[in-house]
Amino acid sequence: MIYLDNSATTPPLPEVVETMASAAREWFGNPSSLHRLGMEAENALNAARAEVARLLGVKPKEIVFTSGGTEAINSALVGTALAHRHRGRHIVTTAVEHAAVLETCRFLATLGFEVTEVPPGPDGVAAVEAVQAAVREDTILVSMMHVNNETGAVQPVEALGRWLANRPKVIFHVDAVQSFGKMAVPLQGADLISVSGHKIHGPKGVGALYIREGLKWTPFVHGGGQEGGRRSGTQAVPAIVGFAAACRWWRDRRAEAWDRLNRLGRAFAQRLREKVPDCRVNSPAGGVPYIVNLSIPGFKGEVLVHALEGRGVYVSTASACSSRSAKGSHVLRAMGVPREVEEGALRFSFSPLNDVSEVEEAVDALARAVEELRPVMRR
Ligand code: PLP
Repeated sequence: MIYLDNSATTPPLPEVVETMASAAREWFGNPSSLHRLGMEAENALNAARAEVARLLGVKPKEIVFTSGGTEAINSALVGTALAHRHRGRHIVTTAVEHAAVLETCRFLATLGFEVTEVPPGPDGVAAVEAVQAAVREDTILVSMMHVNNETGAVQPVEALGRWLANRPKVIFHVDAVQSFGKMAVPLQGADLISVSGHKIHGPKGVGALYIREGLKWTPFVHGGGQEGGRRSGTQAVPAIVGFAAACRWWRDRRAEAWDRLNRLGRAFAQRLREKVPDCRVNSPAGGVPYIVNLSIPGFKGEVLVHALEGRGVYVSTASACSSRSAKGSHVLRAMGVPREVEEGALRFSFSPLNDVSEVEEAVDALARAVEELRPVMRR
């Protein structure tokens, strides 16, 4: 099996599974309990919080554990809207965000907020100037992703963060789900950052929200006051310590992992030029090396996903979440690609656990599938 769908999710590392199993056995106490078992679970939780904070480059007390990227994003956006609604009701985001951001913004619109979705250029990157131009007197929140999950385009969060750092009334949320671990997330100007465990070889169902110390923000999960009152509910200790184990893995091999991702991206592109020269790469030239979106003229993405699966290669169409709906890719549409290119999109996404021979074999499998299916597709 060649697994190249790492932007959808990643297999948990063996040390993550080990850590989770032993945490479930040993640290089953409620971290809020006063007795020894509670203290042990709390200590494990604190160590995990420090590890996640270290990889992001923030203070442990600024990390709130959530059930994943989606919950972190919902908390970030709704919590800001609730806390700052008396100052203004305008939110700026981009048309290429993940559904977790776009749908939360649409939900806020039903509550009386006004949302501006800034369109990207043909490269899938929203220009920083366009986002700046959308910010108004009554803008309370800007939300932008760091790396796009469908195309790998890197959004200008760094430049925007620098600009917003001088506008403290506009809260800045960064969806760093696809960059966390692999790249440094720019912190300047960022008030809120969402990350997820299962995209970095950690477990599913766990993520974190960075909330800058001193930020005015309103929680919406109420109850026992866990996570410093910012996210109530007994913490999922095994998942959280598993997430921390994954963070440690990335921190220990940051340069090496990045180097491997670059090598995989280069080898894939090279092989593609040789074996599938008529394919159209939809990812921009300056995007991350670990996400490649491409289309092959005359082919539906879905057909190729299954043809590749039959050859032991696992990839996605657009994104894992939209691939089961008939909606297609809002990201490629926003980039202005023709309908047949959008319908033909395939996403290959790599992890440092892949090796060069795997990405080359995947291209060979793609070339064979295209060759075999071409006569059928033409009919
Ligand atoms: N944001 C981006 C950019 C993503 O790619 C994803 C997952 O695909 C999410 C948010 C949601 O994260 P989770 O699956 O942890 O809820």
